[in-house]
Amino acid sequence: MNHADLLERTHYCTEITHLEPGTTIRVAGWVRKRRDLGNLVFIDLYDRSGILQVVFDPVRNPDLVVLAQEMKRESVLTVEGTISMRPDEAVNQSMKTGRIELIASRVKLHSTSRVPPFHLIGDQEVNEELRLKYRYLDLRRSEMFRILSVRHQTYQVVRKFYSDNGFIEVTTPHLIRSTPEGARDFLVPSRLYPGRCYALPQSPQILKQILMIGGVDRYFQIVKCFRDEDSRADRQPEFSQIDVEMSFVTRDTLFRIHEELMAVVYREVLGIEIQTPFPRMTYSDALVDYGSDKPDIRFDLKLRDATDVLAGSGYQLTEDAIRNGGGVRGVVYPGGAGLSRKQIGDLERIVRSRGPGGLITFKTGDGGELTGSPLGKHLEPERRLQLVQRFDARPGDLICLAAGGFEETAWALGDLRLEIARRGNMTGDSLKFLWVIDFPLFEYVPQESRYQAMHHPFTAPLAQDENLLDSNPALCRAQAYDLVLNGVELGGGSVRIFREDLQCRIFKALGLTKQEAENRFGFFLEALRYGTPPHCGIAFGMDRLIMMLAGTDNLRDVIAFPKTLQAACLLTNAPSPATSEQMKMLGLKSLIENSGKKETT
Ligand code: ASP
Repeated sequence: MNHADLLERTHYCTEITHLEPGTTIRVAGWVRKRRDLGNLVFIDLYDRSGILQVVFDPVRNPDLVVLAQEMKRESVLTVEGTISMRPDEAVNQSMKTGRIELIASRVKLHSTSRVPPFHLIGDQEVNEELRLKYRYLDLRRSEMFRILSVRHQTYQVVRKFYSDNGFIEVTTPHLIRSTPEGARDFLVPSRLYPGRCYALPQSPQILKQILMIGGVDRYFQIVKCFRDEDSRADRQPEFSQIDVEMSFVTRDTLFRIHEELMAVVYREVLGIEIQTPFPRMTYSDALVDYGSDKPDIRFDLKLRDATDVLAGSGYQLTEDAIRNGGGVRGVVYPGGAGLSRKQIGDLERIVRSRGPGGLITFKTGDGGELTGSPLGKHLEPERRLQLVQRFDARPGDLICLAAGGFEETAWALGDLRLEIARRGNMTGDSLKFLWVIDFPLFEYVPQESRYQAMHHPFTAPLAQDENLLDSNPALCRAQAYDLVLNGVELGGGSVRIFREDLQCRIFKALGLTKQEAENRFGFFLEALRYGTPPHCGIAFGMDRLIMMLAGTDNLRDVIAFPKTLQAACLLTNAPSPATSEQMKMLGLKSLIENSGKKETT
């Protein structure tokens, strides 16, 4: 039998349900499982589209049955055969191809497989390290291909959207000078300039602004960015952004365009219509009402201030907080009066981890009476009533209070609010987009007694706050914004500084001397002197957006070859030691004992 033509498929395994029984087709893929009934052998053959049952029948084709009987899992085949309807009792409704099967007439075995180290079928929990080490096997799982497809589709929709709106995609280099986004740089030592390094971009921030100075006017790019940060479940050291910059437009135009982008992405990728425009909330309101800079507004549960109700009660915890310039704030836990001591203890741990010394809880009884906290003894009936009213607490609710400084109680109660919603399944399945605006320009780093840019140092202050730059930087607000979806930050950006004098004042406020600013950003300051248009921009975390679209909560699942939490690639064993020759060539000496040896792997 001539097998030379048994390579190319005519169809994917599951894309055949429209064909007439009796049609001859060729499929190609991997053996998922084999069932040997003695007289008949069944093989589940799969490719990226799914599974098709292939039948080997000894009457029609005895040679093939012998081959099939020896077929190992994950062997690679091309099979030619005819489509046949399954007998009624063999119909499998849960499979796309559950009504049909392929009667094999010719088969080519291309390669065999060792026994895979984990099951590729079903959604059994598989150790993630194993999945990452054998990523090629993991990628064969249909769920992984589904996510990769969502990613692909999103890329196409995003590119088309920007292109249709007059943006052009410009590629920026990866070997550049440091661009500060608040993280550590990945450095690449230079061979031609020993002792010098390139930095991998934390983002193309400065370059995209320079594109505006270069007249590009509307830029976008789906781009890799690199940040050497400590491991966090929702971060990867190497990630993708949708990066955008526009000249001669207001912030509102940028918002409108990106509301439309989200609408188009959700429509095209998932067939879901979302409502635009998105609401806006200032950073300050977000913190006061939700204890978060990325509020999840799918549920209400707002934080409330109870300082005035409790002031002068004589209860030490709250009195101390108020005396030190802080206050008492809280959130109500609907139906939480029935929680056990242990459950309340868990809530308290959440609050304490953000700073406040404890959680004060009151159960609301049927008649509206409060029980629970020792603070209760210090409150006259009138104050208790006020407390119930302040929180709109109903019988059976739990009022949760935290005492301390504004920021620490806000963040603590914000976390608590999310936990209450999680436990009470309050989120539903709606999509709630939100612009958070007017972020502070700076944040204070107490360990280093200095300010750092909250967004990045190229962000413009609010015009009315510019005069605070020198006198009270902490109060100066920025023309910065984030787009939040269901409590997840999808992206952020800002209106930029386009005047050199203002840019220099910001560098000064950040503690850079004139000389330091010149050394680090001289090329950019120079560019600003040559006719800079007003411009603004934004960047979206592509990986996070895909997570939301694909409905997964594991960031690594949306990246074909991700790093572990310890920033290692288990597939290729990166990072690996540099050889002594490489070190020498780069003009580097290692302080680490066993590095610089010849690589053995
Ligand atoms: N470069 C910023 C970031 O990566 C986004 C922006 O301001 O456009 O977060």
